[in-house]
Amino acid sequence: MLRPAASRALRPASRMPSIRMASTSASSSSSSSSSRRYLVSGAAAATALVAGYALLPTGIFNDGRFDESSTDDRPSPLWALPSRSQMLQALRESSAKSIRPSAADRQEHDESLVNAKATQTRSSAPSPVLAGNLTDAEIRKLDDDEGFDLLVVGGGATGTGVAVDAATRGLSVALVEKDDFGAGTSSKSTKLIHGGVRYLQKAVFELDYGQYKMVKEALHERKTFLHIAPYLSEHLPIMLPVYRYWQIPYYWAGTKMYDLLAGSENMESSYVLSRGKAMEAFPMLKSDGLAGAVVYYDGQHNDTRMNIALALTAVHHGAIVANHTEVVKLHKRDVPGKEEQQICGATVRDVLTGETIDVKCKGVINATGPFSDAIRKLDFPTAQEIVAPSSGVHITLPGYYSPRGMGLIDPQTSDGRVIFFLPWQGNTIAGTTDTAAPVEAHPLPKEEEIQWILDEVRNYLSPDIKVRRGDVLSAWSGLRPLVRDPAAKDTQSLVRNHMINVSASGLLTIAGGKWTTYREMAEQTVDRAVEEFNLKPVRGCVTKETRLMGSHGWSKTMYVKLLQRFGLETDVAKHLSSTYGDRAWSVCSLAEATGQRWPVHGVRLDPLYPYIEAEVRYACRSEYAQTVQDFVARRTRLSFLNTEATVQALPRIIDIMASELDWSTQRQEEELRDGVRFLASMGLQSDRAEELSGVTLKDLKASVARPQSDSHLSDSRLDAKDQLARAGARVDTIGEKATEQSRERDQRRTIPPERSGGGW
Ligand SMILES: Cc1cc2nc3c(=O)[nH]c(=O)nc-3n(C[C@H](O)[C@H](O)[C@H](O)COP(=O)(O)OP(=O)(O)OC[C@H]3O[C@@H](n4cnc5c(N)ncnc54)[C@H](O)[C@@H]3O)c2cc1C
Repeated sequence: MLRPAASRALRPASRMPSIRMASTSASSSSSSSSSRRYLVSGAAAATALVAGYALLPTGIFNDGRFDESSTDDRPSPLWALPSRSQMLQALRESSAKSIRPSAADRQEHDESLVNAKATQTRSSAPSPVLAGNLTDAEIRKLDDDEGFDLLVVGGGATGTGVAVDAATRGLSVALVEKDDFGAGTSSKSTKLIHGGVRYLQKAVFELDYGQYKMVKEALHERKTFLHIAPYLSEHLPIMLPVYRYWQIPYYWAGTKMYDLLAGSENMESSYVLSRGKAMEAFPMLKSDGLAGAVVYYDGQHNDTRMNIALALTAVHHGAIVANHTEVVKLHKRDVPGKEEQQICGATVRDVLTGETIDVKCKGVINATGPFSDAIRKLDFPTAQEIVAPSSGVHITLPGYYSPRGMGLIDPQTSDGRVIFFLPWQGNTIAGTTDTAAPVEAHPLPKEEEIQWILDEVRNYLSPDIKVRRGDVLSAWSGLRPLVRDPAAKDTQSLVRNHMINVSASGLLTIAGGKWTTYREMAEQTVDRAVEEFNLKPVRGCVTKETRLMGSHGWSKTMYVKLLQRFGLETDVAKHLSSTYGDRAWSVCSLAEATGQRWPVHGVRLDPLYPYIEAEVRYACRSEYAQTVQDFVARRTRLSFLNTEATVQALPRIIDIMASELDWSTQRQEEELRDGVRFLASMGLQSDRAEELSGVTLKDLKASVARPQSDSHLSDSRLDAKDQLARAGARVDTIGEKATEQSRERDQRRTIPPERSGGGW
């Protein structure tokens, strides 16, 4: 049960011992873990042992001690994170004694209550009205005792990064996200962890020290990124094809400088490829006129999974985190010595139920990316607008468009923009950034942008490869939050990197930057918050060493153990390992038997993708998935990879989510409609979206049940040559499947006999 003063929830022991999360002594293999005392209810622990790696709904707020000397604790495999409703309860409790009204409000109350005033006495738990009778000193005292240190608004890369930083310093922090973690720009990036070769080029040509510094810092962060979330990120060689001989030394020098800037934190050295070697590495490349290529290294990650890992890591370190919870109002109060009233909390709205909750805190951090101005206007309606959003569109093409382990960059497209062409999650993504755009919650990829990318891709690929509109499996548009610094002399020019601004009433806005630099941005933000809000952290910033959820027990070969233990298909085991890290064991423990000889576990949601049904359950139980979109876009990446495959999987996903989250029939139909609308914003062809708009769940189930495995590539859309090619592709797929099956047979032989008979 939640106790009062939830603001202290999960703080280090010396500061707030009353509210705890449970864990078990079986939890940890990290060196620090032995010093932690874990408590869990006896019944839950017993069940947990039986259930192996399953997460259990144990009470989270048991007493226990938190080792202050270490923050990089490995969460127990049995760790049960607080539910979303417990999180909301903790938010409610933060203002159990109300958010005290400002002097003006108090005066208003005083006037309206003038007759009753004389009879009122001070309450130990003042209502908003009674709070009007408190003196400033009393208000300050209550504020010291109550409320979160920080309320972070926005659950993208920046906000969740700030929450992890603040929580690991021992501050009490709450984070609210109006949609889902990463639903904004942070799910729509190019997925690169990079310094940016093009920024380096600018730095050199424009002798711009600021750009140079930005690239250097990002390269440094790139290394940290790979260290703290190794299962979510990897090295990616990127090829720069060169069509003029004299350009080879030019690009080579550029990429060498990139390596040098990274210094000891460099990944791999860049190198030059002859024409023949370039064609070998990237056989789809246009060979006509190719002089050679330069290859350099950057990192690549799964952006929303990184976002979820950050949110869960913040929770593990004690943060209160709620998705689908929107800030609708900021509260202010008088503070002696300050001319302006200072922000002391916010009203948040549970978007799923409409309930409003007052949250009390010492400081509010606005980490809403492209939406920063809306929050700034809640602070001051006339606040200067600082965001100049720039949109970027990406498309997903089938995997055969690029080799598995090599990306491509075109630094000089027809209109001077840069385009990336990268293997990602078994498919190929292509896209670019930088077109001025208005701020919208769900920006749509425009058809002309999609066509432009296809044209640029055509320029680079061999004429044998027919680049077709029908091959676009998904498309999305993201808004880059470019910002102006309102405190700068030249308020019109955009800042190169990120910007931290504190308004007169104490609203701390952090905006700009990029995914790669989220950690550094968070560090600077919390440093500033500590100063501005006079906070008392237990320690300094430790995020360079705080590994994210799933990283501690993960190794590159973990998927083999998963495969052997649960009898999974190879691609499924690899996917689970690289998506959940060591939490994949928990996902597998929820996997139902297939009833087949092989795979033993892991019922797929779609035959073409390695996502399994157990992930839906896990997302609901352990990752705060609340809607179908949360699952298809951010817990898995199905909608980013293939919108039609997502349509096909929707009925089963809705079925499982309905049983996990107790959805009514009406809610299930609504989820279907919302899901289809969302897929329309992800490039689902408009005629198909229209066709699906009036379809009921029952109809869709019936149509999916019909044996038309890839109906989304309806023959009518393909020309004669395509149909022939497709027939060939089917034969190839069958061939691949057969090879895969024989591989699986070999692997099965390696499973110990006592396990291979099933029983998992
Ligand atoms: C096309 C594109 C490609 C990119 N590629 C890369 C790349 O390859 N590498 C890289 O390092 N960077 C890249 N970036 C940059 C990077 O994606 C962004 O800098 C980063 O994701 C911004 O994160 P954020 O948290 O600031 O914003 P967001 O992710 O947009 O998060 C802000 C959140 O605030 C929430 N919110 C808004 N209002 C409220 C409210 N009232 N209450 C509660 N919540 C609210 C929103 O729902 C949203 O989820 C790219 C950007 C774009 C546009």
